[in-house]
Amino acid sequence: MQFVQQKSGNKIILPGATIGVLGSGQLGRMFAIAARELGYRIITYSPENDTPTGHVADLEISGSYDDLDKIRDFARQVDVVTFEFENVPSATTQAASEIVPVRPDGHVLHVTQHRLREKTFLSENGFPVTPFRRISSLQNLEDAAKELGLPAVLKTASFGYDGKGQVKIKSADELPGAFARLNGAEGIYEAFVDFEKEISVVAARGLNGQFAAFPVFENSHSNHILDVTFAPATIDPRLAAEADELARGILEKLNVVGLVTVEMFLTKSGKVLVNELAPRTHNSGHLTIDASVTSQFEQQVRAVCGLPLGSTELRQPSAMANLLGDLWERGEPNWAAALQNPHVKLHLYGKRDARVGRKMGHLTAVGSTVEEAVRRVVQARNALVEPIP
Ligand code: AMP
Repeated sequence: MQFVQQKSGNKIILPGATIGVLGSGQLGRMFAIAARELGYRIITYSPENDTPTGHVADLEISGSYDDLDKIRDFARQVDVVTFEFENVPSATTQAASEIVPVRPDGHVLHVTQHRLREKTFLSENGFPVTPFRRISSLQNLEDAAKELGLPAVLKTASFGYDGKGQVKIKSADELPGAFARLNGAEGIYEAFVDFEKEISVVAARGLNGQFAAFPVFENSHSNHILDVTFAPATIDPRLAAEADELARGILEKLNVVGLVTVEMFLTKSGKVLVNELAPRTHNSGHLTIDASVTSQFEQQVRAVCGLPLGSTELRQPSAMANLLGDLWERGEPNWAAALQNPHVKLHLYGKRDARVGRKMGHLTAVGSTVEEAVRRVVQARNALVEPIP
């Protein structure tokens, strides 16, 4: 696939300029807030309207990602384009990049929006991943199960997130059913990783190659959706250094200008494996808003604008708990009860409809230890369902 060479690839975008964001969810919202603090203007583009990003942007444009004339029109109104949502067609970012720099560029997006391309890129460049195979027929799947063994995870190659489009296969009799669930889409078969922990490294790379990673975050999931993150991760410092080096290597190899999140597994045998890349800020990095010298969102602004990167130092141990729509099932959550502890911070994304599994907001707490931060944030979240007097 050919990508149009950007005409102004090295341009520094100074405060006062306008940043265009493809996508309009909570990541775009928190990015826009950080960008505004630095004095930038924000225009968001997505198929929706009245969105979390639109609420805080200078302008919200609603249009299809396939409407390339409208995309070019959007690009003419901004100085640089970035994204908070990676499932944007390549043609969309190409059209924008004919007019202004797109950061990270279309190549990074192309690799990271497709699990098979991503894992192939990683393994071909020597980054450790679980063994995998491309699946386009039941025969492929049966061969993969024989070669790589079971259990395994079968995922759609495109459009998967938060465990969507993936199924765990435990025995050979489940293969036909798992294949049917692909529904004709291309799949990737991954050997199941018996992991000890899930961690992530959020890292940025500047126009001049400057690299900065946040301390390793430790993540726990519930129903495949991130539940609680804390930092610093309680792992061997050598493994933390290894994770950091992997992130540096990946961003360099992809020649990233911008911010990328590297999700990893720590296996029970003490290995670090890369699970997935996201060419943007990440749910596990939300605690940086309240706990770090520079938030992941400010860092993304700095990186895509070509400014020097900020310090990623964590001021205090910290923990974040997601607030899913499930919490609204019995009415409005008890915000006052959650905020009883003055070390707890509330972030809501302005979404009107609270649906089960939908990310509505998060809580962050700091503490003198990670245990204290986790205890505070979990207690605060539990308090949300206490009856309102
Ligand atoms: P993903 O959408 O690839 O980030 O996967 C969502 C979650 O599914 C991960 O955070 C893991 O908890 C789990 N998972 C994904 N791939 C594997 C694997 N190969 N082995 C074990 N667990 C996995």
